[in-house]
Amino acid sequence: MNQQEGVIKYQLQHMQKPIKETFSFNEINAWRTIIFRLGLIGQDPERYDNLGFGNISHRLHPQSSQFIISGTQTGHIEQLNPEHYCLVIKADPRKNRIASCGLNKPSSEALTHASIYAQDSTIQAVIHVHSPEIWHYTAALKLSHISANIPYGTVAMAIAVEQLFQTDHLQQTSLFTMLGHKDGVVAFGKNMQEAAWILIKYLSLAISTAQQ
Ligand SMILES: [Zn+2]
Repeated sequence: MNQQEGVIKYQLQHMQKPIKETFSFNEINAWRTIIFRLGLIGQDPERYDNLGFGNISHRLHPQSSQFIISGTQTGHIEQLNPEHYCLVIKADPRKNRIASCGLNKPSSEALTHASIYAQDSTIQAVIHVHSPEIWHYTAALKLSHISANIPYGTVAMAIAVEQLFQTDHLQQTSLFTMLGHKDGVVAFGKNMQEAAWILIKYLSLAISTAQQ
């Protein structure tokens, strides 16, 4: 399936102005840099027609439905500034709509992040990466996954994510792959560290499987 990475498919109502809400970007940004260094977020002429890939988000506050997400086409930058992020003010995954503000537009996969936050109020952080290793070993590692006929950033994806959360398996692993989105992996957790840890854990399991 040939799906272009990085193209925003949802209806976006974006206010081009700085984020006023209080949010400390230090932790999300440090993890974003680590994941960039691992090659899981980035931009590479050899991959996906040189479009940026991967994105990271965190709830604005523990009880909030709003979240901070890295901006679209920031994949090539090793260290982001707060200006590279965007605040998703309102998201309606089932209606394919997002309202946001910031100096950057939200990532093309913001709707998928929104549908994950909507499933469980304890989820505080979501990381979407492109890992050929984890993705390739979806079956071998018995990972939860979205089937290959579901395109990224669509209402169908939002519904598929909802359905995935109804399975017990996802409660245990906090990670799934998107088979219709080449190398696409999503990890989430009660905090940034937990989401990143689950991702790195499964990367090690995938590399270990490859090396057997
Ligand atoms: Zn992606």
